[in-house]
Amino acid sequence: MDLQLVGRGRPVLVALAAASAIAVIALIISMMGVRTAQAEAARTTTTTLAPVAAEPEVFVGPAAGLALVPDGGVQLWGGRDRDPQLVLHEGVILPFLHRSGEWLLVTTMCNESAWVHAKDVEIVAQAEAGIGGPGFDLSKATIVLDPGHGDRDWGGVGPSGLSEKEVNLDIANRVRLLMESGNDIDWATGAITPGAGAPAFGNIFLTRDLDGPNSGDYELGLRYRMSVGTAAGADAFVSIHNNTVPRIDTDIPGTEVYYSTGVDGSDRLAGIIYEEMLRSFSEFAADWSGGELQGARARIDPETGDDYYGLLRRATMPAVIVEGVYISEPEEEALLATPEFRQAYAEAVYRGVVRFLTTDDSGSGINRPEIFPDDAGTVSGNGCTLPEQP
Ligand SMILES: [Zn+2]
Repeated sequence: MDLQLVGRGRPVLVALAAASAIAVIALIISMMGVRTAQAEAARTTTTTLAPVAAEPEVFVGPAAGLALVPDGGVQLWGGRDRDPQLVLHEGVILPFLHRSGEWLLVTTMCNESAWVHAKDVEIVAQAEAGIGGPGFDLSKATIVLDPGHGDRDWGGVGPSGLSEKEVNLDIANRVRLLMESGNDIDWATGAITPGAGAPAFGNIFLTRDLDGPNSGDYELGLRYRMSVGTAAGADAFVSIHNNTVPRIDTDIPGTEVYYSTGVDGSDRLAGIIYEEMLRSFSEFAADWSGGELQGARARIDPETGDDYYGLLRRATMPAVIVEGVYISEPEEEALLATPEFRQAYAEAVYRGVVRFLTTDDSGSGINRPEIFPDDAGTVSGNGCTLPEQP
């Protein structure tokens, strides 16, 4: 019906002229307070002209953010012509920093670009960067937690077979649970109890989540991991790990927290989390082991002068990699197997982020960046496969 005028082959100009004439008549008639069939016809005619033009692309929603894949998965589309690719598994996050109309250009967990249609996902708009410090409202905070490793990338594995990928995910989920509720924190002891002292955080995202495929055991690329932080507009990004191959025996836990040298505040975040880790771990006993340096650290690639760790090199917000304890050592692996120790680790990260965002504490144990000429043997993204919706 909308295209009747054109459909009959009448020149558009004639139609426009006729419409204008009728509109004038309609105006006069309506001014006289007389509603006639002619007036109805005029109004109908006028509104039929607009759709002659190509339908404009409807732009609704943010230009950057997170696309949350709902139950049933989401169709991924590739290339300029948007060829259908696979149906991606439900329960994962697709970060996007660009959109074309209703189409979002997302980064997949295998570091590739693909399109999804906005109507097929739940969208969380990129948050505005908050300014932390005394008085900062935690209910406006956006945090991204990154459980290290996943799927065929096991990370460190202990002598009895406990893997980093499993422990890291559980600890990250415990941090999320703490952040999701209001708590009172006794800063003298570190004790955390339900209360209103520290309100629930606004948004908490896990890059690898229990709700995802294979109960959260799936592969993620480094570019993808940090893209989640950037697209979320996170106030802080914390990657959860445990260490291997110690160099020395130590009297205290050999905790290391690596910070991004490219983003201000990352070293402070690392120093504060380090303090809280030592506080949490002081409740436990073990023959601790460590590296040549402990505390907050940064490693610089001698060839580029940039951060050695690809995750931290890509950071756009205060970002750290926490290496809790040495999973490769029997006593520390045994601790990591217990819910009590995992909870203590999670509480340390939680208290650390709360202090980072709501105080001007400087943190301690912050080492200067070191030139790091070694190759830590990073897992390449080759052969990464996306989990399909069954
Ligand atoms: Zn790791």
